[in-house]
Amino acid sequence: MDARSGAGSRRMGAPSRSANDAGSQARGRRGGGSAGRSGRGGQRSDGNRSSRPAARPVPAGRRPAPEPEPQVSELVLPDAITVHDLANLMKRSPIDLIKELMNAGIMANINQVIDRDTATIVAEDMGFTVVEPEAPVVEEVEEEAPTTVTVVQQREYAEDELSQLESRPPVVTILGHVDHGKTSLLDVIRATNVQAGEAGGITQHIGAYQVDVGGKRITFLDTPGHEAFTAMRARGANVTDIAVLVVAADDGVQPQTREAINHARAAHVPIIVAINKVDLPSANVDNAMNQLADLGLVPEDWGGETICVPVSARTRLNIDTLLDNILVVAELSNLRANPQRTPSGHVLESRLDRGQGATATLLVREGTLSVGDTVLAGTAYGRIRAMYDFQGNPTDKVTPSTPVMVTGLREVPTAGEGFEVVESERKAREVVEERLQAARDQTVRPAGALTLEEVYAQAQAGAVQSLNLVLKVDVQGSIEPIRSSLEQLEVGDLKVDFIHTGVGTITESDVMLAVASQAIIVGFNVTVDGAAERQAEADGVQIRTYNIIYRLIEDLQKALEGMLAPEFEEKLQGRATVRQVFSIPRVGVIAGCRVIEGRAVRNAKARVMRDGRMIHEGQVNSLKRFTDDVRDVATGYECGVGIADAKDLQPEDIIEFYTMEIKQ
Ligand code: GDP
Repeated sequence: MDARSGAGSRRMGAPSRSANDAGSQARGRRGGGSAGRSGRGGQRSDGNRSSRPAARPVPAGRRPAPEPEPQVSELVLPDAITVHDLANLMKRSPIDLIKELMNAGIMANINQVIDRDTATIVAEDMGFTVVEPEAPVVEEVEEEAPTTVTVVQQREYAEDELSQLESRPPVVTILGHVDHGKTSLLDVIRATNVQAGEAGGITQHIGAYQVDVGGKRITFLDTPGHEAFTAMRARGANVTDIAVLVVAADDGVQPQTREAINHARAAHVPIIVAINKVDLPSANVDNAMNQLADLGLVPEDWGGETICVPVSARTRLNIDTLLDNILVVAELSNLRANPQRTPSGHVLESRLDRGQGATATLLVREGTLSVGDTVLAGTAYGRIRAMYDFQGNPTDKVTPSTPVMVTGLREVPTAGEGFEVVESERKAREVVEERLQAARDQTVRPAGALTLEEVYAQAQAGAVQSLNLVLKVDVQGSIEPIRSSLEQLEVGDLKVDFIHTGVGTITESDVMLAVASQAIIVGFNVTVDGAAERQAEADGVQIRTYNIIYRLIEDLQKALEGMLAPEFEEKLQGRATVRQVFSIPRVGVIAGCRVIEGRAVRNAKARVMRDGRMIHEGQVNSLKRFTDDVRDVATGYECGVGIADAKDLQPEDIIEFYTMEIKQ
């Protein structure tokens, strides 16, 4: 669930008209501090990124010159609204709104949800009248609403569904350090517990298999390793119920063992340890257990709660015991699903097959999937033509926790995507259209991402309770001092939570973990590898690197206290040349333009350039194609542009459209 969508359930800090209140409240909670207003917008250092231009400061005393007459003077506001949507509603630039919020002592960014009271104050300051909605805002839909919802393993069920719940097989992922025997273990479990497939089926590897242990089934995902595990989670597919952590008895706990533990913990998945390779003379089970106990996985035999099974993938020793223990943990977790629900689940794998067309392995989560069902996964859909179980045998019904390969989709869906069954292909097409449109309209960063600058505001909006960190350092010895300093930084309800700490370069796997856990990556004396940088950029994950511990701690403290000012940067959206100038009574000067580069954008600022010099700068007041108001105009098209207070416009002037965006 995206934490952002829940924002607004708690009010932001008292919306105060006094510019200093928000800051002083935060300082007050920490027993006072010397940072004054200069802490915002003024000079600040930023770890290693000293080359950044300073944030555009918002002069405290300066109010924008006479407000251009609002095009909408009465507003009806919902209980909560994002800054972006409020700006749209007011037909004003989000930047102006953010500035106004800052003047009111409220740090906000464009994606932030603010409550109605706060929105009312700034809207009124900006010359609007906020009116009460005529009808009750919430429609009466009580008959439709299910009476109670019960949550079982993070799944929601209506009260009348509870009687339909049935136990389902656990879905297991194998994690652990490279070469400790993950693949061997998966192979031996499969070879020992799966009967050979029937002839005539297809022989594709489908990414998961199921074994039968005394009449009970277990589903294994057969892409081992925490990278795949977290990559699925990062895409919203929390499919694993139990993690089996493989530790080689001759090698003990290694860096990826630690990573795997942290990844499983971040996902709140129970861990069973398989201490592998006990057939080797150099095996030292006690040593491995000792190291695991140090990491908080205290074996049951030692009075702890972690099941540790010494196994050998080579000699097949104790494989049955391992499987039995998986079933015990599954039983304790009381894993259930409703086979009668509309089927839904996740895409585990997908490919384009020469003979079969688009194929996908689906893991059914709820409901019973049947041949002929119309499946929708992201923007791919189609009617299931045929289904094959993991052994390649045709099947026509699939129950929860069971992997199945399907054919009949029109397109190859993305692995990790959720799927659902819809009533018809027509309905699927409609939803796909909406999704494509939404993707085109989307200007905000991906939902999982959160930046350090946003943490405080998110906490105030009730969307986060902790600042989740992935910490990478150069040497093991740096972890503890940083960790203990940061753990003491609890401010109000907000505290620092370490999702993962490790030694070495920041990698793609760290980025995926950060996406899956809404975390920020902090590096100390380490570099970021190229793939991680690209992934972080794509997912909107913030990576901050430091080489002075004090700076690192100071920045995080500021973030928790809401003192870390968002940094803005200018983003050029496009250029247009003025071809004709019209003076329209009561409206003002309108420039007839042609867009020559990028886009002309209504909610932007404009700079008028003449002979290479700027002669005017102001908010874009209006943007029209013929007589229609439009949001933007693409290269090659003509449009009419009105700019606040621009009187002296001439043909051949160049108008540059730019927006101010929060620097990532
Ligand atoms: P993965 O990287 O964790 O998937 O590890 P693999 O399954 O590829 O195994 C790495 C190496 O360890 C291979 O050479 C295996 O043959 C060997 N290996 C795996 N399990 C055992 C075991 O139980 N005993 C011994 N002696 N070797 C094993």
